[in-house]
Amino acid sequence: MAQVKLEHIRKSYDKTLIVKDLSLDIPHHEFLSLVGPSGCGKSTTLRMIAGLEEITEGKLYIGEKLVNNVPPKERNIAMVFQSYALFPHMNVAANIAFGLKIKKVPEEERKKKIEWALELMDLNGLGERMPKELSGGQRQRVAVGRALVLEPQVLLMDEPLSNLDAKLRLKMRTELKRIHKNLNATVIYVTHDQVEAMTLSDKIAIMNKGDLMQYGTPHEVYNRPANKFVAGFIGSSPMNFMKCTVKSEGEKFFIVTDSFSIPLPSDMADKIKNRFHDDEKLDFGIRPEDIYAKNYSQKAKIPAEIKGRIDVIEPLGSENLVTVMTEKNEFKVRLGTETDIKLDEIIELVFDVNKMHLFKIDTGEALF
Ligand code: ADP
Repeated sequence: MAQVKLEHIRKSYDKTLIVKDLSLDIPHHEFLSLVGPSGCGKSTTLRMIAGLEEITEGKLYIGEKLVNNVPPKERNIAMVFQSYALFPHMNVAANIAFGLKIKKVPEEERKKKIEWALELMDLNGLGERMPKELSGGQRQRVAVGRALVLEPQVLLMDEPLSNLDAKLRLKMRTELKRIHKNLNATVIYVTHDQVEAMTLSDKIAIMNKGDLMQYGTPHEVYNRPANKFVAGFIGSSPMNFMKCTVKSEGEKFFIVTDSFSIPLPSDMADKIKNRFHDDEKLDFGIRPEDIYAKNYSQKAKIPAEIKGRIDVIEPLGSENLVTVMTEKNEFKVRLGTETDIKLDEIIELVFDVNKMHLFKIDTGEALF
């Protein structure tokens, strides 16, 4: 069993803190993605787990064992990099067997494992090929196969799909998910691509500037972002944000912006009581998929209506991403292609009030 535990891990180069107090408890067989903008400390974290980078402070456990001072080759891990780093002068089979040879695994067993990896990675019949005779996707599969034959307790991957074209990325994504299902290893996967992280992972750790912003399932981070950063980072079209205040009238609370005033459902109102002061500016957020057009949607029964003009229509095939201008604000809205909307048409937008978000401006913390 190879759970991986990071306890208050810090990493600094000279005096600059790159990873600040990171704690993660990753159970055996979990597929965890570390995701965040470029430079946030994802690769540094992965390299510390691999033993390629010294840990400045904190404790790292693989299984039950404290491994801070254990060299990489004794950690029972394997790593797949963005650059496949195959040996160009060795054929596919020799590339796959390389690590086994170093470990002095007998030839018979090596052969069996090569066959197993070729089969698993859908590379049957390609064992004799040289890397230059393979497509990018095939090369990446060899790199993954080479890691898997080592039967690592923990498989570490650093942006393994980013050199592939868009179509192949999608295919490899499905492949990786399938492979993980049949693998007795914990996977830690680094990507800057939130869609990749959402689709592949059991859990996602979202990082920003060396800080952990949220650690949760894809469902949790999408539906209940812990802060404004996560809300803006996760989701295919970014969340709409605008400034607001919350006004109370008797027992009722209203979200008030330049463009609208919406009553808060009582369960949401309960959650925010006493957590902000009167007239405090807050950030209001709602996802494009949680806004409907009144005349065009069955779901538009919720009494929060805003009038606006259609400014831009971006067809996405299965739906349209529509930019709607109100007097003071701009909203991105996802509308079905069956809607016969036209540029400059005035439409009424309806919010799903249960999907609204509120964030503190100073800390970014979500209020519900
Ligand atoms: P990410 O993988 O999220 O893109 P990295 O972990 O590679 O980010 O880098 C995080 C930060 O640490 C970056 O600002 C980078 O410049 C810095 N960094 C990485 N390696 C070194 C190093 N060896 N010396 C100094 N700074 C480094």
